[in-house]
Amino acid sequence: MDSLSMWEATAGERKQRPALQGDQYCDVVVIGAGYTGLSTAYHLQEKGHKTIVLEKYHVGYGASGRNGGELLTGFQGTMESWVAKKGLETARQMWEMSLDAIDLVENMIKDHNISCDFVRKGDIRPAYKLSHLDYFKREQEYMAETFGFYELNVLDKDEIKSELNTDFYHGGRTNERGAHFHPVKFVRGLADLVEEMGAEIYEHSEALKIEKSGKATVTTDQGRVIADEVVIVTNAYAGNLNRTIKGSIVPVESIMIATEPLTEDLMVELMPTNRAASDSKNLLYYFRRTADHRMAFGGSGRSFSKRDALRLFDTLRDGMVDVFPQLKDAKIEYRWGGKVGFTQDMHPYIGQLADGSHFAFGYAGRGASMAVMAGKILAETITRPEDVVNPLKKENLRPIPFHSQHAKAVGIMKFYKAFQDRFIG
Ligand SMILES: Cc1cc2nc3c(=O)[nH]c(=O)nc-3n(C[C@H](O)[C@H](O)[C@H](O)COP(=O)(O)OP(=O)(O)OC[C@H]3O[C@@H](n4cnc5c(N)ncnc54)[C@H](O)[C@@H]3O)c2cc1C
Repeated sequence: MDSLSMWEATAGERKQRPALQGDQYCDVVVIGAGYTGLSTAYHLQEKGHKTIVLEKYHVGYGASGRNGGELLTGFQGTMESWVAKKGLETARQMWEMSLDAIDLVENMIKDHNISCDFVRKGDIRPAYKLSHLDYFKREQEYMAETFGFYELNVLDKDEIKSELNTDFYHGGRTNERGAHFHPVKFVRGLADLVEEMGAEIYEHSEALKIEKSGKATVTTDQGRVIADEVVIVTNAYAGNLNRTIKGSIVPVESIMIATEPLTEDLMVELMPTNRAASDSKNLLYYFRRTADHRMAFGGSGRSFSKRDALRLFDTLRDGMVDVFPQLKDAKIEYRWGGKVGFTQDMHPYIGQLADGSHFAFGYAGRGASMAVMAGKILAETITRPEDVVNPLKKENLRPIPFHSQHAKAVGIMKFYKAFQDRFIG
């Protein structure tokens, strides 16, 4: 699933950055150049803290260069379920944080003229089953009553036609706060920006070892960074650098396809309101228009076997045509996949290991904005911890028991979810 993503292919030439050589000194060393790492660097540099970012491959190699670019509010599951799990006060902070995260991305893009096709026209959750409309109505009422949030709107099968030109869904719900962007243009724009602010980014510089005794020393194959603080933000691409972090993440594959550029008229006909869409199937479809008039369409990746990778893209293309039969003759120009990081609690973790190293990961498919917010919180935790509000704080991080069996568990879960999608009302 490592083939070129449409985002990489359409983002222009990639800037090459040098590998780390010799010894370098800074205030904070950040490991991983995705949204989390670069946002951490941005917020640290803003406060005058000299930052070095180490990246194993290149900026945006991980999920930040492969995602659907949909900026959505909330977390996996309803806010009602988060109130039940965390209590009203913490759930309220989580909700506010998810709204603020999209505003944060928008402000960074606007303040620094990051050219990344940012569109803020809300998002839509189409209903895969009729019963899902009741669930949306309940959610709409709950969010208004409990969170004072009035920007959800439930649409029936006729009404959704003004949003999506398809008979596939039974209706849906819109949310005015969502947005979408070009994920690679954003991550590259952010990288250029943090360099302008004085940070250094080294590519092809895998962090191989971290030693902490007072200061942190991070070793790569050709150099070392010596810093006051270390931030490990390798998310679902974590290797063996830190086994506690690796053992706390379940990487789940998601795949995407993109059509050739189509006409603007056709794309407006299919998705007139140009919102980011992600539907209510268990194994969901997520899709959106792009600035160059393609359909970018995502779904579930591999489960058990390596063999099923081959037919998954065809199945996803069939799914796209089920939703939009108008695309049956559209050529699929790009196919790619990536790893989405989940935690056992299904919400992101932001915290510190016993040795003081900082971490954030596990955005469960909502990292396009939440990872940027996590970077801000990490920077605040380092620079002025007394002021930090962090409802996602994770203490005493421990590997998930039987973590090595997770691939099988994910496969079984996907099989069960697909069964539910097909056979349970
Ligand atoms: C196909 C797909 C679609 C998605 N769609 C959406 C979406 O529409 N909306 C949404 O909100 N979220 C979506 N997501 C999730 C979102 O992309 C992620 O949550 C987000 O990008 C995470 O950013 P990150 O910086 O934490 O991790 P990453 O972007 O994965 O960055 C981690 C980096 O760490 C590097 N690294 C690993 N080990 C080392 C090491 N030892 N030394 C140095 N570097 C190292 C990796 O090479 C990688 O570049 C999607 C994800 C995928 C895969």
